[in-house]
Amino acid sequence: MTGAAFVPTPDQREFRDVVRALCADKVEPNAEAADRTGRFPQASWQALADAGICGVALPAEHGGGAADLTTWSMVVEEVAHACAATAVTLLVHAGAAAALARLGSEAQRREWLPRAVTGEIVMGYAQSESHAGSDVAAITTRAERDGDAWRITGVKSWITSAGVAAAYLVLARTEAGPGTRGMTMFVVPADAGGLSVGKYESKMGLRGSPTGEIILDGVRAGADAVVGEPGGAFGIAMGFLNRSRPMVGAQAIGVARAAFEVARDYVAERDAFGRKVADFQGVQFMLADMAIGLETARAMVRRAAAIVDAGGVDGEPEPAVAAAIAKAHATDVAMAVTTDAVQLLGGAGYVTDFAVERHMRDAKVFQIYEGTNQIQRWIVGRRLLGR
Ligand SMILES: Cc1cc2nc3c(=O)[nH]c(=O)nc-3n(C[C@H](O)[C@H](O)[C@H](O)COP(=O)(O)OP(=O)(O)OC[C@H]3O[C@@H](n4cnc5c(N)ncnc54)[C@H](O)[C@@H]3O)c2cc1C
Repeated sequence: MTGAAFVPTPDQREFRDVVRALCADKVEPNAEAADRTGRFPQASWQALADAGICGVALPAEHGGGAADLTTWSMVVEEVAHACAATAVTLLVHAGAAAALARLGSEAQRREWLPRAVTGEIVMGYAQSESHAGSDVAAITTRAERDGDAWRITGVKSWITSAGVAAAYLVLARTEAGPGTRGMTMFVVPADAGGLSVGKYESKMGLRGSPTGEIILDGVRAGADAVVGEPGGAFGIAMGFLNRSRPMVGAQAIGVARAAFEVARDYVAERDAFGRKVADFQGVQFMLADMAIGLETARAMVRRAAAIVDAGGVDGEPEPAVAAAIAKAHATDVAMAVTTDAVQLLGGAGYVTDFAVERHMRDAKVFQIYEGTNQIQRWIVGRRLLGR
């Protein structure tokens, strides 16, 4: 037992520090403007692409770094610490590309992965619909046979990187529902005839990441666009979530750590009642609770990453449960830590001079996407009760 899942190895530390420096230099400086203007921070994406970060977790045969999930969680934390909007772009991109790498045909991998690895293209993942977020089986986007090919019709909602992505993994029903059977995953280029971007969302946080509708109006997809087995995509989608949920936890930790650092430095300098605010024990306890939350959240994320990577470990929670625990805990911690950071800055926390109000707005969605935290608790509860 090396404990490496919890404590970074020297190589991981060195790599993390390189990513941290890169993000401080080339990503963080764009974060405030991306939030204020709602524009995608292309320069930040390009900086990650130039440094080879977009493909760190993708297979070596396509030029990727083949990093394990624990290492990837460290990268995600650093990018999110600098800019949450850039981090969600990276997470969805890498998740979609990883799903294609694991389940796609040789031709699909050759077509998409080399450019995904370098960051030349961004990839998106289109599963949710306006009436079907938590309840994935309720999707109504359908793909119907058209000779050897398929015609996909439906509207996907809240899709990250809408209008930026070069291709989307699209979940569609190919057999009558409802239920989890009969769903098929397709890889669909953004310029496919009949695909358009609908309404863009105006969001509380992650404002630099475009979120919008993807309208599929009889989009023709060849038989070679099917990812994995036709009809078997529900399992693919759930497997995708086991890997991505701990990474949402890592994203949450990055944002929370950024808010914590601002608050810690602020109270050390701020005067009240003839002392530094940091001298009050009530404030020290708040900072201590924030640090305890961050440390336990990071430990949970690394543990889940190790369990998911191993495909399960005897005597430990199964991957879906470990992923759910890490996601729920880390994102709840992030909401509490960012809210406390605003509190510790007083009035200065509520205005935009310091980034903590942005961090608090960004943190909220981590409790919602990739399965709400109620859904995570449902997963844990069902397993506890053997249901
Ligand atoms: C910024 C952003 C980016 C996103 N990016 C993507 C993307 O790239 N691709 C994609 O496919 N989707 C994406 N989503 C969609 C996201 O995954 C869903 O919003 C999320 O899964 C929740 O679904 P919903 O919004 O339909 O909420 P609902 O499912 O309608 O939930 C409403 C409330 O009911 C609760 N609830 C539902 N079921 C249960 C239950 N069984 N037990 C207890 N409580 C329950 C929920 O927890 C929630 O509080 C994104 C969303 C946002 C906000």
